[in-house]
Amino acid sequence: MARFVRARDRNCVLPGCSRPARDCDLDHTKPHTDGGETRVDNMDPPCRHHRRLKHAGTWTPSQPVPGHHVWTSQIGYQYITEPGPYLDEQV
Ligand SMILES: [Zn+2]
Repeated sequence: MARFVRARDRNCVLPGCSRPARDCDLDHTKPHTDGGETRVDNMDPPCRHHRRLKHAGTWTPSQPVPGHHVWTSQIGYQYITEPGPYLDEQV
């Protein structure tokens, strides 16, 4: 499951972060303590820095579609991160 999630998301799932998923932790999108299950549609790879930020509670993450992450701020702004292409377009 870890290899699948990292291959699917390719990078840290926080907006603007390009750290490769292979160098990131795995975390539950909906926290396990809140009933989030350990399944591919509830796992994401934030880098260590952003994992700490995620748990600070400033942003509320959700994953409405596996691999598509929505980050909602406390005042309702939303940012979406999606997996990048597997091949560069200049190939
Ligand atoms: Zn990051």
